[in-house]
Amino acid sequence: MSEPTLFEPTTGTLLEAAGEALRFPVHRVYCVGQNYAAHAREMGVVERQPPFFFSKPPDAPIQAASVAFPPETANLHYEVELVVALGRGGRAIAEGDALDCVYGYAVGVDLTRRDLQTEAKEKGRPWDVAKGFDQSAPLSVIRRAEDIGHPDRGCIELDVDGESRQSGDLSDMIWPVPAIIAQLSKFFVLCPGDLLFTGTPEGVGPLRRGARVECRIEGVASHQFRIGEPS
Ligand code: MN
Repeated sequence: MSEPTLFEPTTGTLLEAAGEALRFPVHRVYCVGQNYAAHAREMGVVERQPPFFFSKPPDAPIQAASVAFPPETANLHYEVELVVALGRGGRAIAEGDALDCVYGYAVGVDLTRRDLQTEAKEKGRPWDVAKGFDQSAPLSVIRRAEDIGHPDRGCIELDVDGESRQSGDLSDMIWPVPAIIAQLSKFFVLCPGDLLFTGTPEGVGPLRRGARVECRIEGVASHQFRIGEPS
C-alpha cells in the first residue's frame, strides 16, 4: 500500500507504444546536443567538440495533435530527432550491451526557445527555460525494436506547412545510439522509461502559431502536430 500524500501526486507521463495495450511510463528525458556536424556548424560552432547532454523534465513529452506555443519566446524552433525509449537501464553500460536496453524508437521534436538559448549561451547560464518548458518534447507513438530493429541509417525529415525544412540521415550521427547510451550511463544510472533525444540534423528554424509540423524517420515512424495557442 502506498503512503498517504498531502495532495494527489501528479501522475507521470504515459506514452502510447504501437501494438501494446499497456502504456510506456516515462522516467527521465535526456537530450544530446550537437550530434550532427552540420547542425553544430549552423549553431556557430567553429571548433569541433564532442556532443554533450542536457535534459528536459519527464512531463515534457506529448503525443497529442496540438502542442502549445510556449510563453516568453519570440523564436520557437523545431529540431527533429530520433528518440530512443529504454526498457532496461544500468550504469556504465558497454557499447556492446547498449542496444539490449532499448525498448523501441520514435520520431520526436526538441522544441527550443532559441532566443532564450542564445541569451543563456552568451551569459553562461543554464538552458532549462530554453529547452525544458511544458510540452517541449512532442513525439510519435513508440515502435518496438523487436518489430522494427535498431535503425542506424535512414532519412530523418521535418516539414512545416508542407514545406521541407530538415532532411538528414541517421548515419550522420557523431555518437550513434550505442555510444550515446554508453556515454550517458557514465553520468547517470539509466532506468526503464528513460527517453533519449539523440540530436538534430541541420536546417533548424522557427515555428509560428498555427504551424503544421510533420516529421518522419524512415523505417521508424511519422508524426504530425499543430502549434496551438499558449496553454
Ligand atoms: Mn536537440
